[in-house]
Amino acid sequence: MTDTNTLERTQRSATTTLEHWVRGAEWPGTSERTGDVYNPALGTVQKHVRFASTADVGTAVDVASEAWAGWRDASIAKRQGVLFAFRELLNARKGELAEILTKEHGKVLSDALGEIARGMEVVEFACGLGHLTKGAYSENVSTGIDVYTLRQPLGVVGIISPFNFPAMVPLWFFSIALAAGNAVILKPSEKDPTAANWMAALLKEAGLPDGVFNVVHGDKEAVDALLEHPDVRAISFVGSTPIAKYVYETATSHGKRVQALGGAKNHMLVLPDADLDLAADAAVNAGFGSAGERCMAISVVLAVDSVADAFVQKVSERMATLRTGDGMRGCDMGPLITSQHRDKVTSYLDIAGADGAAVVVDGRDVEIDGDPNGFWLGPTLIDKVPTSSAVYKDEIFGPVLSVVRVEGYEEGLGIINSSLYGNGTAIFTNDGGAARRFQREAQVGMIGINVPIPVPVAYHSFGGWKASLFGDAKAYGPHGFEFFTAEKAITSRWLDPSHGGLNLGFPQHD
Ligand code: NAD
Repeated sequence: MTDTNTLERTQRSATTTLEHWVRGAEWPGTSERTGDVYNPALGTVQKHVRFASTADVGTAVDVASEAWAGWRDASIAKRQGVLFAFRELLNARKGELAEILTKEHGKVLSDALGEIARGMEVVEFACGLGHLTKGAYSENVSTGIDVYTLRQPLGVVGIISPFNFPAMVPLWFFSIALAAGNAVILKPSEKDPTAANWMAALLKEAGLPDGVFNVVHGDKEAVDALLEHPDVRAISFVGSTPIAKYVYETATSHGKRVQALGGAKNHMLVLPDADLDLAADAAVNAGFGSAGERCMAISVVLAVDSVADAFVQKVSERMATLRTGDGMRGCDMGPLITSQHRDKVTSYLDIAGADGAAVVVDGRDVEIDGDPNGFWLGPTLIDKVPTSSAVYKDEIFGPVLSVVRVEGYEEGLGIINSSLYGNGTAIFTNDGGAARRFQREAQVGMIGINVPIPVPVAYHSFGGWKASLFGDAKAYGPHGFEFFTAEKAITSRWLDPSHGGLNLGFPQHD
């Protein structure tokens, strides 16, 4: 007779385990610990993922350090060639990656392709590394003396990424880190880790030497090992605010440069002169795309009283047309990442009621086009949310759109500027003067004017203010190349007999 434990063990061993990727191949490391990887649309475990020990991370760092010695000396043309080839392969095979994202994250296939497109944009930007790693040159700063700067790679850098963009966020960082001549250790989210290995294999196919890009899977142990390892020079992190703060404090105290992007609560201010149909479309797209699991999702609409009723009506009508279900079936919105997260998000509906808000559309009532065991919650709209409520204050990170009613521009701006977070925000208006004031006065890192998800293009940088970013370097764009290179200033004089003589004073110009 088979007892439950034996059965469970048999089932576990029949399920594949995703291993680390080190020195250009899968590598199991030494740790026995693993985590479950779900298909959230089915609610079942589809594979396990290996969790690295501190020693495993140490091995990966040693491999990366060794490989870096060659990669740092690879010419700009060689590095550019690898990135171009990677871009071409990624573009040709993006459908495979999109399917991986949908089956592990849950986002619908079209959204997964959108994520890849925005990540690929950064690869394309990184192909311009010849221009972007250039230094500056000043001739004859003093008689016969020239000063110039070089930008050199840092060495081994660590990237720690969140579950909600398993392809795009790693692409933001590793494309530029590799272009700038660094070796990389990526620690992706343990919830949807397969995309990282898939991209690692593609980099190898594109000609990247083994060991220059490595993936270690795991949890806090693997993260801490990266934060503390003396040979890891920099950490790029994206995730929730408490962990971003912890990562920033720990890694900087270990002498590393750190960019740590945290959580968000993004507001959209709708003024009375806005095109309400455009604003309602935008609120629905930005509120419920990827089931609200986007750091740039709109989670709060600040609607001016005079148009609030009409706006809520238009949003509700649009929500009724959305199809929630399996992302492989052409639905508009998929499941949440885990059942625990779904339950936590759902709990805010009860809080809303207790705090005097009105649940206008209840996502618990939605009809699902998918397996009943998936981690579902349909699009939810809560009106008249008080700013004292946890529904307003917490980053819910689910398909819950809150409407806070305001008297006008000043009250709306005041709420935005009182927020703990400052990732993204948007204003919807036809008044250029109001928009111009908003872009100047909002204490937020990324502003949209009649654009609900203002994610900058790859040649500008992405990042928020306040608790949405720790450190002073944003992701990708010019900040990306600055972050992944160290600047060196050289003062040079080629010997000229007229410059002889002793002078112990501090160097001055002549
Ligand atoms: P998370 O903070 O739980 O995890 C992020 C990473 O940190 C993962 O790799 C995880 O394994 C690791 N981690 C988790 N707990 C840890 C701990 N105690 N010690 C060390 N490492 C730990 O975030 P998540 O749930 O994967 O992602 C969602 C969050 O990310 C949201 O808050 C979202 O706003 C944020 N996010 C922000 C941006 C941005 O650009 N600002 C972009 C995407 C996501």
